[in-house]
Amino acid sequence: MSSARRLLELKRYHSLNAFLRRVFGERVQKVTIDAGFTCPNRDGAREKGGCIYCNAFGSGTGAFKEGLTIREQMLAGMERLARRYRARKFIAYFQAFSNTYAPLEVLKKRYEEALVDERVVGLAIGTRPDCINEEIVKLLASYQERGFMVWLEMGLQSAHNKTLFLINRGHTYEEFLQALKLAKKYDLLVCTHVIFGLPGETPAEMLQTIEKIADLPLDGLKFHELYVVRGSRMEELYRKGAYKPLTQAEYVDLVCEALALLPWRVVIQRLTGDPRPEELVAPAWAREKSKTLRLIEETLVNRDLWQGKYRGEPDPLLKEATAPSRLSPGAYSA
Ligand code: SF4
Repeated sequence: MSSARRLLELKRYHSLNAFLRRVFGERVQKVTIDAGFTCPNRDGAREKGGCIYCNAFGSGTGAFKEGLTIREQMLAGMERLARRYRARKFIAYFQAFSNTYAPLEVLKKRYEEALVDERVVGLAIGTRPDCINEEIVKLLASYQERGFMVWLEMGLQSAHNKTLFLINRGHTYEEFLQALKLAKKYDLLVCTHVIFGLPGETPAEMLQTIEKIADLPLDGLKFHELYVVRGSRMEELYRKGAYKPLTQAEYVDLVCEALALLPWRVVIQRLTGDPRPEELVAPAWAREKSKTLRLIEETLVNRDLWQGKYRGEPDPLLKEATAPSRLSPGAYSA
Protein backbone atom coordinates (compact mmCIF):
# COMPACT_ATOMS: atom_id res chain seq x y z
CA MET A 1 0.00 0.00 0.00
CA SER A 2 1.35 3.47 -0.81
CA SER A 3 2.29 5.70 2.10
CA ALA A 4 -0.38 8.24 1.03
CA ARG A 5 -3.02 5.53 1.16
CA ARG A 6 -1.73 4.33 4.52
CA LEU A 7 -2.13 7.82 5.93
CA LEU A 8 -5.66 8.09 4.56
CA GLU A 9 -6.61 4.79 6.14
CA LEU A 10 -4.97 5.63 9.44
CA LYS A 11 -7.34 5.90 12.32
CA ARG A 12 -6.96 7.39 15.75
CA TYR A 13 -7.54 3.97 17.23
CA HIS A 14 -6.01 0.58 16.57
CA SER A 15 -8.65 -0.96 14.33
CA LEU A 16 -9.08 -4.66 13.69
CA ASN A 17 -8.75 -4.07 9.94
CA ALA A 18 -5.37 -2.42 10.38
CA PHE A 19 -4.21 -5.16 12.73
CA LEU A 20 -5.26 -7.97 10.38
CA ARG A 21 -3.72 -6.24 7.37
CA ARG A 22 -0.49 -5.91 9.26
CA VAL A 23 -0.46 -9.58 10.30
CA PHE A 24 -1.67 -11.12 7.04
CA GLY A 25 -0.62 -8.48 4.55
CA GLU A 26 -4.16 -8.16 3.17
CA ARG A 27 -7.79 -7.70 4.09
CA VAL A 28 -9.28 -10.43 6.31
CA GLN A 29 -13.02 -10.66 6.99
CA LYS A 30 -14.85 -12.36 9.81
CA VAL A 31 -17.63 -14.78 8.90
CA THR A 32 -20.29 -14.95 11.59
CA ILE A 33 -21.30 -18.46 12.57
CA ASP A 34 -24.30 -19.64 14.56
CA ALA A 35 -23.09 -23.07 15.69
CA GLY A 36 -26.12 -24.19 17.69
CA PHE A 37 -24.68 -23.77 21.18
CA THR A 38 -26.69 -22.64 24.20
CA CYS A 39 -25.78 -20.60 27.28
CA PRO A 40 -25.53 -21.64 30.96
CA ASN A 41 -27.00 -18.30 31.91
CA ARG A 42 -30.18 -19.16 30.06
CA ASP A 43 -30.58 -22.92 30.51
CA GLY A 44 -30.42 -22.86 34.33
CA ALA A 45 -26.94 -24.41 34.72
CA ARG A 46 -25.76 -21.09 36.11
CA GLU A 47 -28.83 -18.86 36.10
CA LYS A 48 -32.17 -18.75 34.39
CA GLY A 49 -33.45 -16.07 32.07
CA GLY A 50 -30.08 -14.83 30.83
CA CYS A 51 -28.58 -11.37 30.93
CA ILE A 52 -31.36 -8.82 31.16
CA TYR A 53 -30.55 -7.36 27.73
CA CYS A 54 -30.47 -10.72 25.93
CA ASN A 55 -33.35 -12.35 24.13
CA ALA A 56 -33.87 -15.88 22.84
CA PHE A 57 -31.53 -15.28 19.86
CA GLY A 58 -28.45 -14.80 22.12
CA SER A 59 -26.93 -12.42 19.50
CA GLY A 60 -27.17 -15.18 16.93
CA THR A 61 -28.43 -15.23 13.38
CA GLY A 62 -30.67 -18.25 13.96
CA ALA A 63 -28.95 -19.93 10.97
CA PHE A 64 -28.29 -23.20 12.83
CA LYS A 65 -31.93 -23.55 13.82
CA GLU A 66 -32.88 -22.90 10.21
CA GLY A 67 -30.87 -25.99 9.28
CA LEU A 68 -27.71 -24.40 7.88
CA THR A 69 -24.60 -26.35 8.84
CA ILE A 70 -21.46 -24.58 10.01
CA ARG A 71 -19.77 -25.49 6.72
CA GLU A 72 -22.67 -24.05 4.72
CA GLN A 73 -22.63 -20.86 6.78
CA MET A 74 -18.88 -20.49 6.22
CA LEU A 75 -19.07 -21.07 2.47
CA ALA A 76 -22.02 -18.69 2.02
CA GLY A 77 -20.38 -16.03 4.23
CA MET A 78 -17.05 -16.25 2.42
CA GLU A 79 -18.71 -15.96 -0.96
CA ARG A 80 -20.68 -12.89 0.13
CA LEU A 81 -17.68 -11.16 1.73
CA ALA A 82 -15.38 -12.04 -1.17
CA ARG A 83 -17.85 -10.34 -3.53
CA ARG A 84 -18.36 -7.31 -1.32
CA TYR A 85 -14.78 -6.65 -0.13
CA ARG A 86 -12.70 -8.79 -2.49
CA ALA A 87 -11.48 -10.57 0.64
CA ARG A 88 -9.50 -13.77 0.18
CA LYS A 89 -8.88 -14.66 3.81
CA PHE A 90 -11.41 -15.23 6.56
CA ILE A 91 -11.82 -15.81 10.28
CA ALA A 92 -14.67 -18.03 11.47
CA TYR A 93 -16.45 -16.06 14.18
CA PHE A 94 -18.53 -18.25 16.49
CA GLN A 95 -20.83 -15.58 17.82
CA ALA A 96 -24.19 -16.87 19.05
CA PHE A 97 -24.60 -17.84 22.72
CA SER A 98 -21.59 -19.45 24.50
CA ASN A 99 -19.35 -21.23 22.03
CA THR A 100 -17.29 -23.17 24.57
CA TYR A 101 -20.34 -24.54 26.38
CA ALA A 102 -20.34 -28.20 25.28
CA PRO A 103 -18.24 -31.34 25.76
CA LEU A 104 -14.74 -31.09 24.32
CA GLU A 105 -15.38 -33.49 21.45
CA VAL A 106 -18.44 -31.48 20.36
CA LEU A 107 -16.42 -28.25 20.43
CA LYS A 108 -13.64 -29.81 18.39
CA LYS A 109 -16.08 -31.15 15.78
CA ARG A 110 -17.81 -27.79 15.37
CA TYR A 111 -14.60 -25.73 15.19
CA GLU A 112 -13.12 -28.16 12.66
CA GLU A 113 -16.21 -27.88 10.50
CA ALA A 114 -15.56 -24.15 10.09
CA LEU A 115 -12.08 -24.73 8.68
CA VAL A 116 -13.48 -25.38 5.23
CA ASP A 117 -10.34 -24.63 3.20
CA GLU A 118 -7.05 -22.74 3.24
CA ARG A 119 -8.81 -19.39 2.97
CA VAL A 120 -9.82 -19.73 6.66
CA VAL A 121 -6.92 -18.31 8.65
CA GLY A 122 -8.41 -18.05 12.10
CA LEU A 123 -11.07 -18.69 14.68
CA ALA A 124 -12.81 -16.20 16.97
CA ILE A 125 -14.74 -17.91 19.75
CA GLY A 126 -17.32 -15.88 21.68
CA THR A 127 -18.06 -17.13 25.17
CA ARG A 128 -18.43 -16.37 28.88
CA PRO A 129 -15.70 -16.45 31.55
CA ASP A 130 -17.44 -19.29 33.41
CA CYS A 131 -17.40 -21.47 30.26
CA ILE A 132 -13.61 -21.68 30.14
CA ASN A 133 -11.42 -24.40 31.57
CA GLU A 134 -7.89 -25.63 30.91
CA GLU A 135 -8.97 -28.37 28.49
CA ILE A 136 -10.89 -25.88 26.36
CA VAL A 137 -8.04 -23.40 26.37
CA LYS A 138 -5.63 -26.17 25.36
CA LEU A 139 -7.94 -27.11 22.49
CA LEU A 140 -8.01 -23.50 21.27
CA ALA A 141 -4.23 -23.24 21.66
CA SER A 142 -3.85 -26.34 19.47
CA TYR A 143 -5.34 -24.36 16.55
CA GLN A 144 -2.85 -21.60 17.22
CA GLU A 145 -0.06 -24.20 17.07
CA ARG A 146 -1.43 -25.25 13.67
CA GLY A 147 -0.92 -21.67 12.44
CA PHE A 148 -4.42 -20.25 12.87
CA MET A 149 -5.02 -16.93 14.55
CA VAL A 150 -7.24 -17.67 17.56
CA TRP A 151 -9.24 -15.03 19.38
CA LEU A 152 -11.05 -15.92 22.57
CA GLU A 153 -13.86 -13.39 22.99
CA MET A 154 -15.10 -13.19 26.55
CA GLY A 155 -17.97 -10.96 27.50
CA LEU A 156 -17.35 -8.85 30.58
CA GLN A 157 -19.66 -5.83 30.03
CA SER A 158 -18.73 -4.14 33.33
CA ALA A 159 -15.96 -4.48 35.89
CA HIS A 160 -18.44 -3.64 38.68
CA ASN A 161 -19.85 -6.69 40.43
CA LYS A 162 -22.93 -4.74 41.55
CA THR A 163 -23.75 -4.16 37.86
CA LEU A 164 -22.98 -7.75 36.86
CA PHE A 165 -25.39 -8.87 39.58
CA LEU A 166 -28.05 -6.37 38.52
CA ILE A 167 -27.92 -7.44 34.86
CA ASN A 168 -27.90 -11.12 35.83
CA ARG A 169 -24.59 -11.89 34.13
CA GLY A 170 -24.13 -14.95 36.34
CA HIS A 171 -20.39 -14.35 36.84
CA THR A 172 -18.17 -11.91 38.69
CA TYR A 173 -15.27 -9.70 37.61
CA GLU A 174 -12.94 -12.03 39.51
CA GLU A 175 -14.10 -15.00 37.41
CA PHE A 176 -13.29 -12.99 34.31
CA LEU A 177 -9.78 -12.34 35.64
CA GLN A 178 -9.27 -16.06 36.32
CA ALA A 179 -10.39 -17.04 32.83
CA LEU A 180 -8.15 -14.37 31.30
CA LYS A 181 -5.17 -15.69 33.27
CA LEU A 182 -5.84 -19.19 31.99
CA ALA A 183 -6.14 -18.04 28.37
CA LYS A 184 -2.92 -16.06 28.58
CA LYS A 185 -1.12 -19.07 30.07
CA TYR A 186 -1.59 -20.57 26.58
CA ASP A 187 -0.89 -17.31 24.73
CA LEU A 188 -4.37 -16.98 23.25
CA LEU A 189 -5.41 -13.61 21.90
CA VAL A 190 -8.19 -12.39 24.18
CA CYS A 191 -10.84 -9.82 23.28
CA THR A 192 -13.47 -8.65 25.73
CA HIS A 193 -16.80 -6.87 25.37
CA VAL A 194 -17.86 -3.81 27.35
CA ILE A 195 -21.33 -2.24 27.36
CA PHE A 196 -21.93 1.45 28.04
CA GLY A 197 -25.34 2.46 29.35
CA LEU A 198 -25.99 -0.50 31.64
CA PRO A 199 -28.74 0.23 34.19
CA GLY A 200 -27.56 1.74 37.46
CA GLU A 201 -24.15 2.83 36.14
CA THR A 202 -22.95 6.40 35.94
CA PRO A 203 -20.66 7.53 33.08
CA ALA A 204 -17.82 7.72 35.63
CA GLU A 205 -18.40 4.07 36.57
CA MET A 206 -18.45 3.08 32.90
CA LEU A 207 -15.04 4.68 32.42
CA GLN A 208 -13.81 3.04 35.65
CA THR A 209 -14.38 -0.29 33.90
CA ILE A 210 -12.04 0.83 31.11
CA GLU A 211 -9.46 2.06 33.63
CA LYS A 212 -9.61 -1.28 35.42
CA ILE A 213 -9.14 -3.38 32.30
CA ALA A 214 -6.64 -1.09 30.55
CA ASP A 215 -3.68 -2.70 32.32
CA LEU A 216 -4.86 -6.30 31.88
CA PRO A 217 -3.16 -8.46 29.24
CA LEU A 218 -6.07 -8.00 26.83
CA ASP A 219 -5.45 -7.95 23.08
CA GLY A 220 -8.83 -6.73 21.88
CA LEU A 221 -11.95 -4.85 22.95
CA LYS A 222 -15.46 -4.45 21.60
CA PHE A 223 -17.63 -1.50 22.66
CA HIS A 224 -21.40 -1.73 22.64
CA GLU A 225 -24.14 0.67 23.63
CA LEU A 226 -26.91 -0.96 25.62
CA TYR A 227 -29.86 -1.26 23.31
CA VAL A 228 -33.21 -2.71 24.27
CA VAL A 229 -34.39 -5.66 22.19
CA ARG A 230 -37.81 -7.27 22.00
CA GLY A 231 -38.36 -10.14 24.37
CA SER A 232 -35.62 -9.12 26.83
CA ARG A 233 -36.15 -8.16 30.44
CA MET A 234 -34.74 -4.75 29.57
CA GLU A 235 -37.80 -4.25 27.40
CA GLU A 236 -40.05 -4.56 30.46
CA LEU A 237 -37.90 -2.09 32.41
CA TYR A 238 -37.82 0.33 29.49
CA ARG A 239 -41.58 0.19 28.91
CA LYS A 240 -42.19 0.82 32.63
CA GLY A 241 -40.02 3.93 32.40
CA ALA A 242 -37.40 2.40 34.71
CA TYR A 243 -34.58 2.66 32.18
CA LYS A 244 -33.36 5.54 30.03
CA PRO A 245 -30.83 4.67 27.28
CA LEU A 246 -27.78 6.80 26.64
CA THR A 247 -28.12 9.45 23.96
CA GLN A 248 -25.96 9.09 20.85
CA ALA A 249 -23.88 12.11 21.96
CA GLU A 250 -23.31 10.61 25.42
CA TYR A 251 -22.25 7.30 23.91
CA VAL A 252 -19.88 8.92 21.43
CA ASP A 253 -18.30 10.95 24.23
CA LEU A 254 -17.84 7.83 26.39
CA VAL A 255 -16.21 5.83 23.60
CA CYS A 256 -13.77 8.64 22.79
CA GLU A 257 -12.80 9.02 26.45
CA ALA A 258 -12.45 5.25 26.77
CA LEU A 259 -10.19 5.04 23.71
CA ALA A 260 -7.89 7.66 25.19
CA LEU A 261 -7.62 5.55 28.35
CA LEU A 262 -6.67 2.35 26.51
CA PRO A 263 -3.19 1.36 25.40
CA TRP A 264 -2.64 1.34 21.64
CA ARG A 265 -1.75 -2.36 21.67
CA VAL A 266 -5.43 -3.23 22.35
CA VAL A 267 -7.12 -3.92 19.01
CA ILE A 268 -10.51 -2.22 18.78
CA GLN A 269 -12.81 -4.75 17.18
CA ARG A 270 -16.07 -2.86 17.45
CA LEU A 271 -17.08 0.70 18.32
CA THR A 272 -20.85 0.37 18.35
CA GLY A 273 -23.54 -2.30 18.38
CA ASP A 274 -25.47 -3.53 15.38
CA PRO A 275 -29.00 -4.53 16.40
CA ARG A 276 -31.37 -6.27 14.03
CA PRO A 277 -33.84 -3.53 13.06
CA GLU A 278 -36.84 -5.79 13.67
CA GLU A 279 -35.65 -6.55 17.23
CA LEU A 280 -34.75 -3.05 18.34
CA VAL A 281 -37.00 -1.24 20.84
CA ALA A 282 -34.69 1.63 21.84
CA PRO A 283 -32.71 3.81 21.39
CA ALA A 284 -33.62 4.62 17.80
CA TRP A 285 -30.09 5.92 17.13
CA ALA A 286 -28.73 2.38 17.55
CA ARG A 287 -29.89 1.87 13.94
CA GLU A 288 -27.54 4.61 12.78
CA LYS A 289 -24.31 2.63 12.90
CA SER A 290 -22.52 4.62 10.19
CA LYS A 291 -23.47 7.92 11.77
CA THR A 292 -22.27 6.80 15.21
CA LEU A 293 -18.94 5.69 13.71
CA ARG A 294 -18.59 8.99 11.87
CA LEU A 295 -19.37 10.97 15.04
CA ILE A 296 -16.75 9.00 16.98
CA GLU A 297 -14.11 9.68 14.32
CA GLU A 298 -15.05 13.38 14.15
CA THR A 299 -15.02 13.77 17.92
CA LEU A 300 -11.59 12.18 18.16
CA VAL A 301 -10.30 14.69 15.59
CA ASN A 302 -12.10 17.72 17.05
CA ARG A 303 -10.89 16.98 20.56
CA ASP A 304 -7.48 15.81 19.37
CA LEU A 305 -7.89 12.46 21.14
CA TRP A 306 -6.39 9.14 20.17
CA GLN A 307 -6.16 5.69 21.70
CA GLY A 308 -3.60 5.82 24.48
CA LYS A 309 -3.44 9.63 24.74
CA TYR A 310 -4.28 9.70 28.46
CA ARG A 311 -1.54 7.12 29.04
CA GLY A 312 1.03 9.40 27.45
CA GLU A 313 1.31 7.26 24.31
CA PRO A 314 2.30 9.04 21.09
CA ASP A 315 -0.22 9.91 18.42
CA PRO A 316 -1.04 7.21 15.86
CA LEU A 317 0.81 8.91 13.03
CA LEU A 318 4.05 8.43 14.90
CA LYS A 319 2.99 4.91 15.84
CA GLU A 320 2.39 4.08 12.20
CA ALA A 321 5.74 5.47 11.20
CA THR A 322 7.55 3.28 13.72
CA ALA A 323 5.44 0.09 13.52
CA PRO A 324 6.86 -2.95 11.78
CA SER A 325 5.16 -3.49 8.42
CA ARG A 326 4.05 -6.98 9.34
CA LEU A 327 3.58 -8.89 12.58
CA SER A 328 2.83 -12.53 13.19
CA PRO A 329 -0.03 -13.45 15.56
CA GLY A 330 2.52 -15.08 17.84
CA ALA A 331 4.67 -11.97 17.88
CA TYR A 332 1.64 -9.88 18.69
CA SER A 333 0.55 -11.94 21.68
CA ALA A 334 4.03 -12.27 23.14
S1 SF4 B 1 -24.13 -14.71 28.21
FE1 SF4 B 1 -24.71 -14.07 26.13
S2 SF4 B 1 -26.13 -15.64 25.38
FE2 SF4 B 1 -25.92 -15.93 27.60
S3 SF4 B 1 -27.64 -14.81 28.45
FE3 SF4 B 1 -25.91 -13.40 28.46
S4 SF4 B 1 -26.01 -12.30 26.50
FE4 SF4 B 1 -27.37 -14.08 26.35
